[in-house]
Amino acid sequence: MLVYDYALKFLKELGGCMMEDKKIVCKDCGEEFVFTAGEQEFYKEKGFDNEPKRCKPCRDARKQNNRR
Ligand SMILES: [Zn+2]
Repeated sequence: MLVYDYALKFLKELGGCMMEDKKIVCKDCGEEFVFTAGEQEFYKEKGFDNEPKRCKPCRDARKQNNRR
């Protein structure tokens, strides 16, 4: 059925656009952390192109060091 094929293709394309959780290795501590789909969307919304390179604890630690 043609309509069914079309719907299937559409769903597939939609699925390809959906963001998935991503695993990233932290630059600082070497631990793997999850860059969640929600965070990716947040980054996109803010216009950030690059992914975070550090896990959250490391980012927080850096923030605190910078603030002093
Ligand atoms: Zn880290």
